[in-house]
Order: sequence, then structure tokens, then C-alpha cells
Amino acid sequence: MASGKKKRRTEEENREFNQDWTESFAFICDTDGVPTCLICHDELSHNKKSNLERHSTTKHTQFAGKYPIGDARKKAVEELKKKKQPAKFHAK
Ligand SMILES: [Zn+2]
Repeated sequence: MASGKKKRRTEEENREFNQDWTESFAFICDTDGVPTCLICHDELSHNKKSNLERHSTTKHTQFAGKYPIGDARKKAVEELKKKKQPAKFHAK
């Protein structure tokens, strides 16, 4: 089903979680479809890049400073993901 559908990038309107945000802002998409911060486990109510960005830059400045985008950030995010083992996933 990979029909190259070309859409214009309208990130503010498209309320779907963007996988890039995991690395950029240390957020993952929860099972409920809400963006969840891997660092403080806060849940944001909207999949809006500006919201995630604001959260990341106001609350986790150190994280961004410590792990610049790239391998360091990727690794740090992987570690955070491992730590976050939601009980939801086991209860099935
Ligand atoms: Zn956070």
C-alpha cells in the first residue's frame, strides 16, 4: 500500500504523531494516541509540534544540551524508552 501519496507538510493541522518527534523532543506516542514525554512522563493533549517543542525547551533544556541531535540523542532516547515499560502493554 505504498502509493507515494504526496501531501504538503502541514504539521500544525495534521494531528498525527510524527515519529521524528521521538528523537527531537523525547516524546513517544502512547497507546491512547497522545504524545507522552519520556523524561517526565507528562502527557500532552495534542499532537502539535509546537506543544512538544515548548515542553522540551522549557522543561528539559538540559536534556537537549546534554544530548545534541544525532547519535547521542538517539541513544539517550532508546535508554528512556527501555525504562518506560508501560504496564498497559503487558495486560492483554
Ligand atoms: Zn517532559
